[in-house]
Order: sequence, then C-alpha cells, then structure tokens
Amino acid sequence: MPYNHAMAPPQELGRIVLVLNRPKDPVNIGAVVRAMKNMGLSRLYLIDPDDFDTYRIEGIAHTGMDIIGSARLFDSLAEAVADSQLVVGTSARGRTVRRAYRRPREQAAEVLAKACTGQEVALVFGREDRGLSNEELDLCDRVVVIPTDPDHASLNLAQAVLVVAYEIAVAAEVADPFKAPRHDSQRATRMELEELFEQVEKSLHAIDFFKAHRTTAVLRTLRSVAGRADLDGREVELLKAIAYEVRHFLAREGIEVDE
Ligand code: SAH
Repeated sequence: MPYNHAMAPPQELGRIVLVLNRPKDPVNIGAVVRAMKNMGLSRLYLIDPDDFDTYRIEGIAHTGMDIIGSARLFDSLAEAVADSQLVVGTSARGRTVRRAYRRPREQAAEVLAKACTGQEVALVFGREDRGLSNEELDLCDRVVVIPTDPDHASLNLAQAVLVVAYEIAVAAEVADPFKAPRHDSQRATRMELEELFEQVEKSLHAIDFFKAHRTTAVLRTLRSVAGRADLDGREVELLKAIAYEVRHFLAREGIEVDE
C-alpha cells in the first residue's frame, strides 16, 4: 500500500543510520537533524563532533528532539559502522581511486532493498572542510556522488544529507503529496456507475437540458469523464444523490417531472 503523509514513516527507514564523521559546526548538525525529520529518518550516529551542544542543535533543528536525544557518539568511523551490513559513503567528487560510485537515486534503491530485508544500512557523511579521507572511504561499500557543477562540487553538509535522504524517501514513498490519502472505499462497480448515469439522465431530462444538446453525445461524454475520475463507491453515491435531489427540488417547487 502506498505510504502517505497521514502515516508514520515506513518501518524499514528505522534500519538506516545516518553517520556524521567529525562534524565541525552544530549549525550543520541541527540542519541535518531537520532534514532527517523531513525525510523520515530517525537514527543519528556522530563521530567525535567538535561541538555537541544539544540545546543549540535543537534550536536550529526546530524539531527532532527524539533524534538528538537518541543520537549515539563514537570515537571512530570503524566503530560506528561495525554493525552495518551496507556502508554508503558520500563524496563531493569521484576520486582517482577505483570505487563503487553511485548517483543518489540509484543508491537509494539498494539502500531501501537492504533495509527492507532487515539489514542495517549506514549513510556516512564527511567533515565540512575535508570530507571523508581515503581510509574512511575504504570502510564504505559504495560511494554516492551528488551530481553538481564540476566547478562547485561541494555541497553544504546538511544539504547533501537532504538530497541523499530525499531520494530514499521517494523510493520508500514517504509522504508523497501527490498521492491523496485514499479512504478505504473501493472503486465503484459497473452497476453503481450505471445507476448514477440513470439518475443523471433523468435529472437532465427534468431540467430540459437535452432540448439544446444531443442526448447520446452528452451521456457518452459524462461516461468518459466518470471513467477518468476513477470514482469510488462513496463518490458515486454522492453524485447520485445530487442528481436525485435535482428532481426532488423541482417536484417541491411544483414543477412536473416525468419519472
Ligand atoms: N571538501 C570536501 C567537502 C566536504 S562537504 C570534499 O571534497 O569532500 C561535507 C560532506 O558533505 C562531504 O564529506 C559529503 O559527505 C557531503 N557532500 C558534499 N557535497 C557532496 C556531493 N556533491 N556529493 C556527495 N556528498 C557530498
């Protein structure tokens, strides 16, 4: 079932850990927490941050107290990713060393597939001024490079987190505003639709609509509109009631209606 904004983030996102390697600036940690919250991620590991002033970080994140409260601190990247079954590093540029470089979208699919089978996945981000070292990248199974203007390849840390987490959220169908939360009602049956068309036709007759229009063409157009609208049972009931009430109204006003 597609995920929508009325629901909690899918469970598999709980298997994804976001790892910040020696972050310098608490402003960036706050912005990372906010981005995680936006995209349904909840687990944060920090390796030896320069400044971990939770009060300040909360002020910047505006949200995500739970993430900050449950964040874990480590001394080294090796310790932080020890339990992970897939370690995904990130880097502003593909280096000369041969590595498994991936685009965020491509990588998101694998991250989610692993998380869905219960494996722990780490997404590792480097320090603001120097990124991840070659030795740190050696601990990563994959390296994600966000495509950029080659002359300006280095994104702000939290913005890089947002891009990577966004692709995972899209892959997991987190909070897709284009998917209206659908009520449980099933798609209307053929019979329900035929009853609707019958009511509509009668009411259009009652208001003499067909005087100026070709009956068959109008009804066919209505059928095609209804087909595209993918109506469910409740929606059909409502439209039927509207059509029915038109004739009732005319009858109440003393206008004769053929049934
Ligand atoms: N000068 C550093 C940039 C560090 S930016 C370098 O060349 O690596 C801080 C972190 O943000 C990086 O370590 C990486 O985790 C992430 N990041 C920044 N730009 C990125 C990009 N274009 N693709 C992937 N990750 C990026």
